[in-house]
Amino acid sequence: MQRGRRKPDWLKSRPPSGSRFTEIKSTLRDRDLHTVCEEANCPNMGECWSGEDGPGTATFMLMGDRCSRGCNFCDVETGGMEPLDPDEPANVADAVAEIGLDYVVLTSVDRDDLADGGSAHFAETIREIKRRDPEILVETLIPDFQGDPEAIDRIIEAEPDVIAHNVETVERLQWPVRDRRANYEQSLAVLDRVDRESDIHTKTSLMLGVGEYDHEVYRTLGDLREVGVDVVTFGQYLQPSRSHLDVFEYVHPDVFETWRRVAEEEFDFLYCASGAMVRSSYKAGELFVEALVR
Ligand code: SF4
Ligand code: SF4
Repeated sequence: MQRGRRKPDWLKSRPPSGSRFTEIKSTLRDRDLHTVCEEANCPNMGECWSGEDGPGTATFMLMGDRCSRGCNFCDVETGGMEPLDPDEPANVADAVAEIGLDYVVLTSVDRDDLADGGSAHFAETIREIKRRDPEILVETLIPDFQGDPEAIDRIIEAEPDVIAHNVETVERLQWPVRDRRANYEQSLAVLDRVDRESDIHTKTSLMLGVGEYDHEVYRTLGDLREVGVDVVTFGQYLQPSRSHLDVFEYVHPDVFETWRRVAEEEFDFLYCASGAMVRSSYKAGELFVEALVR
C-alpha cells in the first residue's frame, strides 16, 4: 500500500501512438463520436485500440456527455441534459464497421431524465452494429435504469454478448463513492436479472484504493458470484481533480494480482482482469475471447 498524493511508478504510462491510433481518432472526429477511451484519457488506449494480440476494443459513450447523476469519482458533467440524437445508433454502427473493430463496448451516461432511461436507444445501437456484422462482439456497460426491469429486458432482447454493470466499490462505500441514487442492492439486482433472464455473460468492476477493507472485497466477490456474475475487474481509483473523492491509497500491483487469483481460483470467475491501470473495458475483447476458448 502507498498513501499520499504522489503517484507511484507503476501508474506511469506511455502516451498512445501509431498509425492505427491516428486512423481511429480521425474516424471518430469525422463522425463527431465520443469514446470513453479519449474522454477519460485512458492510459490503455494504445493496447486496447490496436488489439495486437487479439481483437481491438474501444468504448463508445452514448446519449451525450452530460449525466443526470453526479458520482464523486467521475469527471462527467452533471445536469443540462440534451435530447437524444436519433442518428447516433446508426452513426456508431457505421464507425465500428469503418474502423474494423472486432469487439465494441457501449456505455452511456445515466439518463434518469428519460422515461425508459435511454434503454431503447441503447438497444437500437446494439442492433445496428449486429445488423452490419453479426460476428462483432458487443459488450454493453449499462446504467442501473433505477432498477426498472423493463429497461433491463430491453437490453437483453437486443442480444449483446456481454452485459456489464459496475458495482464500483464495496457495499459500505457506495456513498460517498457513487451518486446517492445508486446503491449496492440495486446494482446486484440488475446483474441478477440479466443472469436469470438470459444466457448473456455478465460482468462488473470495482475500483480499489477508495478505503475498502480486504474482507469487504472478499465478501463482494461472493455476492457477485451468488447473482451469477461471470467476469470481474479491479483497477486503481485515480482522482480526476481536486474536487473529486480523495485517493485513499495506491494499491500495490502484487495486491491486484492476489485479487485476480482469488477471483479466478477461489470464486471461479470466467476471468478477472486486475491491475492498477485496468478499467472495466481493459482489453475486453482479447480477454473475453481467450477465456471462452480456455
Ligand atoms: Fe459518471 Fe456514470 Fe456516475 Fe454518471 S452515473 S456520474 S457517468 S459514473
Ligand atoms: Fe478504452 Fe476501456 Fe481500453 Fe480504456 S480500458 S482504452 S476506456 S476500451
